[in-house]
Amino acid sequence: YSPLADIDPEVSGALARELDRQRNTLELIASENIVSRAVMEAQGSVLTNKYAEGLPGHRYYGGCSCVDVAESLAIERAKKLFGAEHVNVQPHSGSQANQAAYFTLLNPGDSILGMNLAHGGHLTHGSPLNMSGRYFKVAFYGVEEDTGRIDYDKVYEIAVQSKPKVIVAGASAYPREILFDQMSEIAAQVGAYLVVDMAHIAGLVAAGLHISPVPYADIVTTTTHKTLRGPRGGMILCREKHGAAVDKAVFPGIQGGPLMHVIAAKAVAFGEALRPGFKEYQQQIVKNALALANALLERGFELVSGGTDNHMMLVDLRNKNITGRDAEKVLDEVGVTVNKNAIPNDPQPPVITSGVRVGTPAVTTRGLKEPEMAEVAEIIHLALSYGDDTARLKKAAEMAAGLCRRFPIYEEGGVYAAP
Ligand code: PLP
Repeated sequence: YSPLADIDPEVSGALARELDRQRNTLELIASENIVSRAVMEAQGSVLTNKYAEGLPGHRYYGGCSCVDVAESLAIERAKKLFGAEHVNVQPHSGSQANQAAYFTLLNPGDSILGMNLAHGGHLTHGSPLNMSGRYFKVAFYGVEEDTGRIDYDKVYEIAVQSKPKVIVAGASAYPREILFDQMSEIAAQVGAYLVVDMAHIAGLVAAGLHISPVPYADIVTTTTHKTLRGPRGGMILCREKHGAAVDKAVFPGIQGGPLMHVIAAKAVAFGEALRPGFKEYQQQIVKNALALANALLERGFELVSGGTDNHMMLVDLRNKNITGRDAEKVLDEVGVTVNKNAIPNDPQPPVITSGVRVGTPAVTTRGLKEPEMAEVAEIIHLALSYGDDTARLKKAAEMAAGLCRRFPIYEEGGVYAAP
C-alpha cells in the first residue's frame, strides 16, 4: 500500500517516472549522485515534523532530545571525516552555506575576489546575478586561455590590485586540482580571509584524493549531495575561532528552523563516508574520470585543460560543430544526461554554450568501471560526432540502455537493491 499513490496519484506518478528515468539513463551530471536507501529513509522521516531553532543542547523549542542526537552525530562524523575543528550542518544548501560564510566575514560593500562564473566558478562567488555580486564589490580571477588552468601568480596580481577582504576558492566546472595551499598564501600576502567552497570535490577531499582546504581556509563550505553522496544540502567547516560567528550567521543570520530530517540524512551519509568502502568508491570515481577523458580524447574530443585530475571534465565541442545546448539534447535522447556548460571565453551565450560538463560520481555509484567508460565515450561519440545519423543514434541508445540494464539501481541484482 502506498499512501502517496492513494492520496496523490499525480505526485506519485511523477516520482515513479523519475525513478524509472534514473534507472534507465546514464547520469553524467558532475554534481549529481545516487544516495543509499538509508539516506533516503532518514530524509523521508518524522524528523521533518520538528522545529529545532538553535544548536544541540541549546534550542529555542522543547522536544528536541532526539533531533539533538541526529545533529550531534552529523557534526561529530563530519569533524572526523574532514579533520575540522568546528562544523555547522544546518545550511539548507551550498548557496546558503556560502551566504553564511560571507555573512560571517563581510559587511555589505566589502570586496571579494572569486572565480569567474564563465571560467568555472559558481554563481555565489560574486556573479552580478547573485546576492554575492549585488552586496559586495567583486573582482574575478579565471583560467588561462592556453592551459585552461588557474595561474596562481595572476591570482596574486589581481588580489594585490583589488585588495579583497575575502578570497573565494573553489569551482563548479574546473577539472584540475585547486592548490589551496597557494590560495592560502595569496590570501595571507594581501591580508584577506580565505573561503573555500569544496562542493564538487568534498568526497575526494574526505578520501584524501585532493588537497584538503581545511588546514588552509578560514571557512570551508560544501554541498552534501555531490561526490559526498548525501542528501541535498549544505555544510560549513571552520577553525574554532570562527565557530560561534559561523553558527550565528547561519541562525539567526540567514536561516530559520533547520531541516532536521535532512540533517539526520547527512549524519547517515557521513557515517557511510567513514566506512572503508568510501575511499575505494572515490578512487574509482577518479579512475573512471581519467578513463573517460582518455577515451574521449581518443575519439577526437577536445577537453578544456587537456584532461582531468578529479571527477569531471569539460568537453569543448567546437571541433564537433555542435553547441552545448544541442549536445545536451541529443545525449538526453539516447539516454545520457549531461549539462551544457560554458567553456572559458565561450563565443556562445550561456543559454547555448560550446561545451558540456561530464562527471563520473553517479555512474561510479552504479558500479561502472574503466572498461565501461570506453563504452560511455563511444556512446557520446556516436551521438555527437556524426550529425543526425539515425543508425548511429539508435546504436548509442541501445548501448546506453544495455549499460543501465547491466548496472541496475534500486532494484534486484543492483546497487541499493530492496532488502
Ligand atoms: N558551490 C559550488 C561550487 C557548486 O557547484 C554549487 C552547485 O552546483 C553550489 C555551491 C550550490 O549548491 P546548491 O545548489 O546546493 O545551492
